[in-house]
Amino acid sequence: MSGRTNRGKVYLVGAGPGDPGLITLRGKYLLERAEVVVYDYLANPKLLRHVPKDAELIYAGKKGGGLHAFTQDEINQLLIDRAGAGRTVVRLKGGDPFIFGRGAEEIEELVAAGIKFEVVPGVTSATAAATYAGIPITHREYTASVAFITGHEAPGKKESNIAWDKLATGAGTIVIYMGIKNLPDITRKLMDHGRDPQTPVAVVRWASTPVQHSVEGTLATITDIVRKAGIKPPALVIVGEVVRLRNTIDWFEKRPLFGRHIVVTRTREQASELVAGLEEQGADCLEYSTIHIEPVADYSVLDRALDELAGYQWLLFTSLNGVTYFFRRLFARNMDARDLAGPKIAVVGRATAGELEKYGLRPDLVPEKFTGEGLAEALLRQGVDGARILLPRALKAREVLPETLARAGAEVTVAPVYQNVPPRGRKDELREQLREGFIDLVTFTSSSTVTNFLTMVDAASEEELRSLLAGVRIAAIGPITAKTVEDHGLAVDIQPERYTIPDLVDAIVAHYHNANTG
Ligand code: SAH
Repeated sequence: MSGRTNRGKVYLVGAGPGDPGLITLRGKYLLERAEVVVYDYLANPKLLRHVPKDAELIYAGKKGGGLHAFTQDEINQLLIDRAGAGRTVVRLKGGDPFIFGRGAEEIEELVAAGIKFEVVPGVTSATAAATYAGIPITHREYTASVAFITGHEAPGKKESNIAWDKLATGAGTIVIYMGIKNLPDITRKLMDHGRDPQTPVAVVRWASTPVQHSVEGTLATITDIVRKAGIKPPALVIVGEVVRLRNTIDWFEKRPLFGRHIVVTRTREQASELVAGLEEQGADCLEYSTIHIEPVADYSVLDRALDELAGYQWLLFTSLNGVTYFFRRLFARNMDARDLAGPKIAVVGRATAGELEKYGLRPDLVPEKFTGEGLAEALLRQGVDGARILLPRALKAREVLPETLARAGAEVTVAPVYQNVPPRGRKDELREQLREGFIDLVTFTSSSTVTNFLTMVDAASEEELRSLLAGVRIAAIGPITAKTVEDHGLAVDIQPERYTIPDLVDAIVAHYHNANTG
């Protein structure tokens, strides 16, 4: 450790208002290199994806309470200790660290302790809330000034730092942080000091996130509206004529899937193109990785085949994971691509072909239709009578391909190289969301996502399953997945014509578009 102590440094980084895409490039760069991250309640935990796996993550909790909350003194001490031990610390704070974020207090302590630091600004929630609620915070025709104030300090208290008399009419747009609890007092003060009770006001909760909730009223009415809508912190209050422009500019909440809570069932390992596509349209994606890919316990079938590879005419791959786990085993046995010179190689589709190319190999055969049936047909056209065929694949998979080939006279070796296992945990969370009717739609991208989802839901009976899924729509990527859904007594509501992720997203958007207009 000694000698490293010089390197310790604290980076106070603004996380932005909520949408993890609103952090700065500098902030992301620092997260990618952090050894310790101390993060707040308002910093989106999705940002922790950028952090190296072995970094220490410390949740500093919610200001003013909570079971695991640290006091400000404890946080300061934590930063000093970790950086003092030579580590690179990112202190991640919601919005901008220097706007009602107590950033300066932390820096003062670091300075006193002789710790090096840097501050990275962030998009503050005031500008984000305004933008995402369709309100330009300034506008030449409406306002020439903006004030950011804290509503945390009760306006009634004698030693107030806010000159309400001057502020009420002195600033065109007024944005109030932490103002929900004191909203009745705040609006009253502004009106008492001369602000027109008809001044438009918007309140925006969880701005820039898929659960953003905004309401609108006037200084005279907003308190009631907020109470009736049940809006709780964190929310911002925006006061001023600019709020009128919301009717024209509102865009975020108007996206086709805004407010829809969609379960995405995918494997943890696969890049989530579906999540990206749905979020782009405004959906709130609840990612339940229903499949976890693991190696199999027994590789003896594959090992025997690898010992006599020259005796095989064909090597078939029907999935990305099949390729990945086949090569893992090949390499583990000190073999490589050169050992595959003998058999011809066929793959089920373009994605699998792409995976194969990573290992320096190109398939001899890709069928026109990217299914097991399509691949079987293409192989039969080549003639497989008497051919020895090796098929590394999942432990449990459909038998169509090996059976069809065997019927045509081929000798097929099915070698299990990986397995799909349902992940542990999160079952209670999922069941709770289903029971509360929080979930609008569940998406399935393969038959195993269906069976594993149902394993996770763990319904005691078909009745319980139907009651948990009552009102929940189901989207399936293609006919085989849809059939698996139907085999479990459930109905598919959405299915695209072509079996691709972008087509699935389009079909979901179209479904809700029709539901909204029809
Ligand atoms: N440093 C932060 C503010 C911290 S004070 C920033 O620059 O945004 C905490 C207050 O910020 C909350 O009470 C709320 O008023 C506001 N806030 C933070 N994130 C918000 C969000 N996503 N939506 C609405 N208000 C938010």
